[in-house]
Amino acid sequence: MAATSRHEYEMKMKCKKAATKTTDPVELLRLKCLERGASGIKGLGRTFRIMDDDGNKKLDYREFEKGIYDYGLDLEPEEIKAMFQKFDTDRSGTLDFDEFLKALRPPMNKARKSIILKAFHKLDKSGDGVITTEDLKGTYNANQHPKFRNGEWTEEKVFLSFLSNFDSPDDPDGKVTREEFINYYSGVSASIDSDAYFDLMMRSAWKLG
Ligand code: CA
Repeated sequence: MAATSRHEYEMKMKCKKAATKTTDPVELLRLKCLERGASGIKGLGRTFRIMDDDGNKKLDYREFEKGIYDYGLDLEPEEIKAMFQKFDTDRSGTLDFDEFLKALRPPMNKARKSIILKAFHKLDKSGDGVITTEDLKGTYNANQHPKFRNGEWTEEKVFLSFLSNFDSPDDPDGKVTREEFINYYSGVSASIDSDAYFDLMMRSAWKLG
C-alpha cells in the first residue's frame, strides 16, 4: 500500500543530496518535502490547509513563510522568498493553493497518474470524491489486521487507522480527498524509479484489474 521502507530510505537520501545541489527554488522545496518521506508533500499541503482559516484557498507571502516554518522545513528566508516568487507566476502576490501543490508534486507520467486515480475511484465507493470509513465497508478487509483479529479494535478503528496513512498525524479527520490521495502517492511514486514496479505495486495493493 505505502512506499516500502527501503525505497523510502533511498529516496530520502537521494533527495537530501540533490537538495544541496539544485538551484531551482521549486525543486528545492519539493526535495525538502521528500526528504521527510513519501508523505512529505501531502504533509505540507495539509499544513497549508489548516492555516487557511478563511478557506479562500489562497496563500499570501506571510502565510506561505509561516507554513514552511510550521511544517518544520529548514530553509533560509531568501530561499523561501525565491520559492514564492517562482510559484507566483502571475505576480499577484498570492498563490492558488491547489495550483501550488500541483506544481510542487514530483512530475508523474500519465500511466502513473491514471493508476493512482483508478485506485482512488475503487476506494471511493460512494463516488463523492472523498474516501471515508463508509466507503471502506465491504471493500477493505479488516480481517487482515491483527488488532481486529484479537478483538482489540473495531472494524471502524481499523478503517480510521488506514485512512490516517493519508492524513496529517496532527489532524486526522478520517476523510481522504482525491487531492490528498494524489499528493500522497506522488511521494510514493517519487520513491520508485521503475514504472513497471509502480504499476505492479498499485495493482497488487488495490487488486486493480
Ligand atoms: Ca466517498
